[in-house]
Amino acid sequence: MKKLLFCLTLVMLIAACAPKAPSPTSEQIIVEKRVVQCWDGSIAESIEKCPPRSEIKEEPTIEEIPKDLGDFKLVYGIIKDSAYQELQKLFQEAKLFETTLDELNNVLSLPVDVYVRFQECGDTNALYVPEQKQIIMCYELISYFALLFGPLVETEEEWDQAVLHATFFTLYHELGHGLVDVLDIPITGKEEDAVDGLSTLILAEAGVEDAALNGATWFLLQGAQQTNIEDLAFWDEHSLDLQRFFNIACWVYGKNPEDHAYLVDDGILPMERAERCSAEYQQLYNSWDKLLAPYLKE
Ligand SMILES: [Zn+2]
Repeated sequence: MKKLLFCLTLVMLIAACAPKAPSPTSEQIIVEKRVVQCWDGSIAESIEKCPPRSEIKEEPTIEEIPKDLGDFKLVYGIIKDSAYQELQKLFQEAKLFETTLDELNNVLSLPVDVYVRFQECGDTNALYVPEQKQIIMCYELISYFALLFGPLVETEEEWDQAVLHATFFTLYHELGHGLVDVLDIPITGKEEDAVDGLSTLILAEAGVEDAALNGATWFLLQGAQQTNIEDLAFWDEHSLDLQRFFNIACWVYGKNPEDHAYLVDDGILPMERAERCSAEYQQLYNSWDKLLAPYLKE
């Protein structure tokens, strides 16, 4: 009822509610002529009655410009399992994550430090803990990636790359949760899908779409194992694994359909979804660009 009343009010103001408007009466024509849309989207009886720009939008004061008070900081945990110790040694020697976090710190202003901790968890997981401002990357999950991708690759090099790709996809996903928390970024819908989008966007814009696709493959392989509909977690805050796979595949395809035409040609991504993926990717890009713009350093 309230909605209807609101709609009727709008009809009186701008005659915009009805999908198919009846022939205008003289009264409506007068009303339509009388109102104008101001620069800020509001409606007024005349331009003179629009709010002046200076009163509505003020230049940000020094205090409103986000200060860079924090950084992403890498922490390596104490490891008992020798296999994980070996993995940790490889990571430390390659300085892969140190370089990644340095690059992020060079472009992003954070209000607090956010820790990225690689550790043995006793659980196959990766998570962001808001109370600690800490991303936890479990070696058990990286080890699980190795098991998952093993049967799909032909060389050690491909294996290492697939595992690293899925690890980076996961790291940027968790980093997305961290940014949503410390920057108080507004999210509507599922935050899990939103940060899958951010991770895909970061990797795709860095030119490593394959990393996003290996992240997607993780969900495809897991999803393929879930054959019993009663075992699917419809209640979960994450979308179903196969939905996450198709989302990421769509965004990667949407960034550059020509380069990723095989996703459609090989029947991986249905055309019904693919035809809207360029628009989806552009929306993803525009949204995160707008949300993170205040925190990007010059
Ligand atoms: Zn998540």
